[in-house]
Amino acid sequence: MAVEPKKTEMPKQKPEERIKNFHEVALGFTEEDALKEAKRCLQCKKPTCIEGCPVEIDIPSFIKLIKEKDYNSAIKKIKEKNSLPAICGRVCPQEEQCEAKCVLGKKMEPVGIGRLERFVADWERKQGLIESNIVEVPKEKIAKIAVVGSGPAGLTCAGDLVKLGYDVTIFESLHLTGGVLRYGIPEFRLPKEILDVEINYLKNLGVKIITNVLIGKTITIPELFKEGYKSIFIGTGAGLPNFLGIPGENLNGVYSANEYLTRVNLMESYKFPETDTPIKIGKKVAVIGAGNVAMDSARVSLRLGAEEVYIVYRRSESEMPARKEEIENAKEEGIKFHLLTNPIEIIGNNETGKVKAMKCIKNKLGEPDSSGRRRPIPIAGSEYIMEVDTVICAIGQSPNPLIPQSMPDLKLGAHGNILTDEKTGETSIPFVYAGGDIATGAATVIAAMGAGKRAARAINEKLKNLS
Ligand code: FAD
Ligand code: SF4
Repeated sequence: MAVEPKKTEMPKQKPEERIKNFHEVALGFTEEDALKEAKRCLQCKKPTCIEGCPVEIDIPSFIKLIKEKDYNSAIKKIKEKNSLPAICGRVCPQEEQCEAKCVLGKKMEPVGIGRLERFVADWERKQGLIESNIVEVPKEKIAKIAVVGSGPAGLTCAGDLVKLGYDVTIFESLHLTGGVLRYGIPEFRLPKEILDVEINYLKNLGVKIITNVLIGKTITIPELFKEGYKSIFIGTGAGLPNFLGIPGENLNGVYSANEYLTRVNLMESYKFPETDTPIKIGKKVAVIGAGNVAMDSARVSLRLGAEEVYIVYRRSESEMPARKEEIENAKEEGIKFHLLTNPIEIIGNNETGKVKAMKCIKNKLGEPDSSGRRRPIPIAGSEYIMEVDTVICAIGQSPNPLIPQSMPDLKLGAHGNILTDEKTGETSIPFVYAGGDIATGAATVIAAMGAGKRAARAINEKLKNLS
């Protein structure tokens, strides 16, 4: 039977409606959609898709179970490897991971693996089966392990270690858990309710979480060892915003994307006036950068009432690092793209100290640089003024420096990232492991989860061999 060449479309809220609310944009597959998409999978004898999944999900097996309408076994199959399927099904860049490796992709669109993962995770939640599907974990505990940070790296490491029989405690500096999943990614892409359900699943498995503890200040890593923790995983992320270093960055109306999204998400400005934490946003907003963080900042601004929102990016569309579908969503919503453009000065009103415009210069592309992408070269004399009243800087984040500063023996890379053994995640200090954005610099949810999984496996191997 001929395979349908295109992925089954995912229903979405209409652009003109969704820009007025923070509800989820993508609505998920119906059962009919899921069955149609599952049928496209060839059930390859040597399935290459699994190679593209950092948490090693048995993809053809769960898709086969969907085809057989055995959705409960399908979600159990996924959860053997991945404790956060509803999150991954929504925000993982599958197009660069499992779907990039799907054999169908050579001739047509690959199987919509992420959409199918989301479908079964949502099915389990809607059927109220999450609690009854919880797997038994060993009652006798092998040792106490501490995990620092409750982002995807820490959550995955903790979940896998609990399943292996460890007594695991996550220490989180904020009052809420989830890391960037909560304070970065907006509600319309990843509802907080979904995040809460998946974190609760881990708590029910036995993961303990203590919030409001800043490791490196409240208590240090050597002190955790003294308290009896046999190994420690650091998953503290990359939360330190990078800045442009141009005149005018200190004016009123300039935000780092990190601060902006944290205020919207964590302090729930998006629910104002229901909450008492408004955020000031102007009428004309320029967002600098073209990654996921930039797209999120732009789309949030629109929903908070900005009339015009621009993405200002120094390279061209083909170099934009954001997920393709999020770029499409941003375009559908009316975000305007100023490509091959670099801001060189933010101009303020002398009396109020507020942003009133931004001076930009046009670029052309030169030879590829060390990142492999073509280098932007400014075109002399092409400067122009863009009238804006808010500027959001989304040009990347660096690893959080607190733990490295509190541990002088910890070996660091050029960008302040913690250096680790590639296979195990062990740092230069024995029994201390690290993974996710703190080790790689800002990357992806699934890369962080993969690092958490590898570290859990390595911690178990090392501690088992000691006993
Ligand atoms: P984080 O998620 O940053 O979690 C680190 C946690 O550690 C935080 O909770 C922090 O509070 C805590 N912490 C830090 N220091 C300490 C300390 N000293 N003591 C205790 N706790 C501490 N990736 C995708 O794959 N798809 C996307 O669509 C996507 N969109 C994104 C959108 C935005 C706005 C942002 C900012 C990122 C996005 N990413 C996306 C990237 C992805 O979210 C990150 O790569 C991922 O969250 C990294 O996980 P992590 O566990 O390493 O760190
Ligand atoms: Fe199915 Fe693609 Fe994996 Fe083959 S590679 S098993 S077609 S998802």
